[in-house]
Amino acid sequence: MELIKPREDCGVVGIFAPGQPVAHLAYLGLYALQHRGQESAGLAVGNRRSVTVVKEMGLVAQALDERVLDALDGDISIGHTRYSTTGSSSWRASQPFYRDVGDLEFALAHNGNLVNTTELAREAGMLPGTIVSDTDLVAELLAGELTASVLSPGREMTEALSSVLPRLEGGFSMVAVDAGHLYAMRDPRGFWPLCLGRLDSGGWVVASESPALDVIGAHFQREIAPGEMVVIDDSGVSSHRPFTGPEPDPSLCVFEFVYFSRPDTVLLGANVHRARQNMGEALARQAPVDADMVMPVPESGIPAAEGFARASGIPYRDGLVKNRYIGRTFIAPTPEMRSRAVRMKLNPIRANIEGRRLVVVDDSIVRGTTTRAMVRMLYDTGATEVHLRISSPPYRWPCFYGMDTGSLSELLAANLELGEMAEYLGVRSVAFLERDRLLGSIRNRGGGFCTACLDGRYPVAVPVEMREGDRGRTGELTVGAGGPL
Ligand code: SF4
Repeated sequence: MELIKPREDCGVVGIFAPGQPVAHLAYLGLYALQHRGQESAGLAVGNRRSVTVVKEMGLVAQALDERVLDALDGDISIGHTRYSTTGSSSWRASQPFYRDVGDLEFALAHNGNLVNTTELAREAGMLPGTIVSDTDLVAELLAGELTASVLSPGREMTEALSSVLPRLEGGFSMVAVDAGHLYAMRDPRGFWPLCLGRLDSGGWVVASESPALDVIGAHFQREIAPGEMVVIDDSGVSSHRPFTGPEPDPSLCVFEFVYFSRPDTVLLGANVHRARQNMGEALARQAPVDADMVMPVPESGIPAAEGFARASGIPYRDGLVKNRYIGRTFIAPTPEMRSRAVRMKLNPIRANIEGRRLVVVDDSIVRGTTTRAMVRMLYDTGATEVHLRISSPPYRWPCFYGMDTGSLSELLAANLELGEMAEYLGVRSVAFLERDRLLGSIRNRGGGFCTACLDGRYPVAVPVEMREGDRGRTGELTVGAGGPL
């Protein structure tokens, strides 16, 4: 299946709520985070004596049902919904990962991607080819620490995490559960989001995005800080800083604001929907165009199109209807069927399009094949001009921290200049929002952003073996802000 949009690799949730149906609450949280991964879903529940893990391939509603949830009795739960960027798309690689070390059982779930897995595998004594995913590797490192632990009962997991976390390089937001504790941690740069909420009953919730808190009925308290490890148990919430040395610049993935996060998410004090509208306004000021109508590519382009229309004064109208039920399972087995696939997803509203000059707004382009077919469809429907406006800069660099850009050789912006792109897509003009205008549109309170896939400046150095496959396709990668690659 064609990669239409960049894909992130997971959503995580954690619940500490003695006396509450924690598996059901985690299920609700996963449902709210379904957009972050649709390959598999899983839960782990701690009941003071042991940890039970249930995971299955498919969407949350397919992987987990009432019968399974009812059987998961406990006080603490973590959940995970997966899209694979490392490891295979298989049950074995689905999360949470479970380990049993003597009297201690734990489960771990991870959003992100580690860049020093070769080194970590060596430390863990794992042979190449036996590692299911980087999360499996972290679970193995933790198990190794716990096996060697001579510390007092109840402190082992915190100590093991404090030893392992500083050895991990890359992007990670993780949750873990043992029989009596919930753990939540973020890498020192905070590539991927993680927030903390409180239930009226006194319980606690952590989740990749704030709407999961809303669905569970928890009140947003704060974001887990980059480099922070939070431990939640009967005594409450304690904050730890396992990472030593100077604090690096925060580097939240900027694509959380462009595309990944739900529009109702609040991140760094900024509402994602509002930020996307701001991007559209900034785009209208940066790349104005004389046209009759502004229309979004539904649904991801809607807020930016609203902003573009507001700033330009050009009327906003819907031009395409999206089939919301097509999902990722739509299979187009023949070229003829594939050519119809775009029409299956998007169908034009002739009454709005015919005889009009259109500004079509979207948030990003990956390969451009779908965009190209859509543009042709708009002309076939009677549009007299099509101008494409994209509310993020072109991405030309691979992401190593947890986003799947697809093959770089197929990335439109990695291979074509602006004029060539317009010609390939068949549009009268195309423009991408500039990086500084994108950052200015977010209006966040504190924090900073990773923009490596836009400018090649990598906050965490990426080892040679990891980037080797991409060098041939993209030319030399530049030296990152965080040091030479
Ligand atoms: S490289 Fe791009 S997709 Fe990856 S974390 Fe940085 S901004 Fe996000």
